[in-house]
Amino acid sequence: MLLNLNILVDPDVSQSLIMELDHHLLDVFPINNIDLLESVELPSSCWDKSRHQFNANCLLAFAMSYKRSRIVVLIISKDAYVSGLNFVFGVASRGLGAVVSIYRLENDPDFIKKEIIHELGHVFGLKHCALPCVMTFSNSVWEARLKSSAFCEKCWKQLKQEF
Ligand SMILES: [Zn+2]
Ligand SMILES: [Zn+2]
Repeated sequence: MLLNLNILVDPDVSQSLIMELDHHLLDVFPINNIDLLESVELPSSCWDKSRHQFNANCLLAFAMSYKRSRIVVLIISKDAYVSGLNFVFGVASRGLGAVVSIYRLENDPDFIKKEIIHELGHVFGLKHCALPCVMTFSNSVWEARLKSSAFCEKCWKQLKQEF
């Protein structure tokens, strides 16, 4: 399967945090090509003034309309939420794309990579799993730190079947 990934980045995300990202993702996923690091202005219509957060699903819809490849990942610097949760590290839509907020990821490239791999796991149909699998659900930075950046054997098997 020919798989192209388009990475969009909000201009406030420091390039140094996502420098090696394309190599990491090409290592983990059977992706043929990455259209990398296109800088996009985030739509103000997705910003919630009272919460001081972006509506993650609104940004996901924006990313879908903007994408140049089959799958899009939008990386943002600001905090994000979905209805019912105080915040989210990211959201994903199966087969289409994901949004990842690095706001709570402590300017740590490994942490950022881990959350992007997690959301892409959802894009490729994976559900939440258990530690130390990267598909473990995290409700806090502390929990997110605990998981590894790798898929467990079960998730890896399922992932391979998707391709
Ligand atoms: Zn998840
Ligand atoms: Zn797993």
